[in-house]
Amino acid sequence: MRIRDIQTAVIEANYDWTIVKVLTDEGIVGYGECFFAPGLTRLIHELKPLLLGQDFRDIDRLCRLLREAGVTAGPVGGTIFHAIAGIETALWDIVGKWLNVPLFQLFGGAFRRRIRLYADCHAAEGLSSLSSLCTPRIPWWMSETGETQHFYEIHLKAHGGRGEEAAALPDPEAYARRAKQVKAMGYTALKFDVDIPNPYSRDDFNRCLDNREIAMMAQLVAAVREAVGDDTDIAIDCHWRFSAESAIRLTEAVAPYRLLWVEDPTPPDSVEALERVTDYSPVPIATGENHYTRQQFHDLIVRGGVHIVAPDFQKTGLLEGKRIADLAETFTVPVAPHNISSPIGTMASAHLCAAIPNFLVLEHHGIDVPFWEELALGWDGPIIRNGFIELRDDKPGIGIALNEEVAYRYRRKDEPFFASD
Ligand code: MG
Repeated sequence: MRIRDIQTAVIEANYDWTIVKVLTDEGIVGYGECFFAPGLTRLIHELKPLLLGQDFRDIDRLCRLLREAGVTAGPVGGTIFHAIAGIETALWDIVGKWLNVPLFQLFGGAFRRRIRLYADCHAAEGLSSLSSLCTPRIPWWMSETGETQHFYEIHLKAHGGRGEEAAALPDPEAYARRAKQVKAMGYTALKFDVDIPNPYSRDDFNRCLDNREIAMMAQLVAAVREAVGDDTDIAIDCHWRFSAESAIRLTEAVAPYRLLWVEDPTPPDSVEALERVTDYSPVPIATGENHYTRQQFHDLIVRGGVHIVAPDFQKTGLLEGKRIADLAETFTVPVAPHNISSPIGTMASAHLCAAIPNFLVLEHHGIDVPFWEELALGWDGPIIRNGFIELRDDKPGIGIALNEEVAYRYRRKDEPFFASD
């Protein structure tokens, strides 16, 4: 029942998918995934000596041990939490396999086995890739397949222009086309970025939206609503960019299009700004992907008045994620988890969503990554069918293993690949 080794690998996809593999003296191997961060692998390997020889079943105690070890490095969140979340998921995967039960059984059983996903559609541009410092990049495997030029064009359109030459006006038609395409894949909920470079932006730093920018954003939302009709949910993401007053004006402008939510309108460290927005917004406000603990979510709900919480379980960890969901449930606040993971993190999140009564919809951010499905081993056919993941009782742990051959093909070449150190 002992932890024998902890190894890591990083897959260079639209983000750095950092995979943790825990090996045990029982011969059982577990996989987990961490939300990306600079220096993350090094941190996981520094935590490793605290876990070697420990009983892999004592998950809550081991996570507490790791958090206390990192209390001066990240007492309330950050990279240390990302590292622990990946390790924790791998331990749950091991315990599930050891008991021969799917993960959702360990969290109280399923309210549902069919997990609804929403597709992140970015700014309608298709695949784009960001480094661990959120800088646009071209994955090495892409430049070798001759798609570089096309990729540059996508990036320029999605990220260029800010602070330099004027950005192009985003095309509502492109948003509409993208929405129709993704709806045709079976998704019943879509999310688009509206905080994109545009020629109307007057200042890169003051968080204020020009009236023309707000009108432009409303036009994009209108085009998407028109394209998908009333039976598809739409959310928009603001990535913490706006002042409270600008965010309120934006929510008023998009209110006629009956959004599922407006996400992260104001900076994550100001509960007061969030409170101002939730007080006046006619549209539900979601936030939480940059928060880590139930205490922080208590603040978001009670003081911030957030309507929907969106924790990222590859940051909070699964057990804290369940506690956050239970806390939200006492306020009848739904949970729509943020997720940008490979199949490993996505399946772990899906299992937890099965066990959360107030679950709303889980993010899928990989519709443009050509090898997303290929990375999963041990599932029959595609994991995602028609915008849903159907969990199964006969697949223990998170239900899949990592296809390490495929992972190796798309690995970060400057990172270890499941080697012992
Ligand atoms: Mg977001």
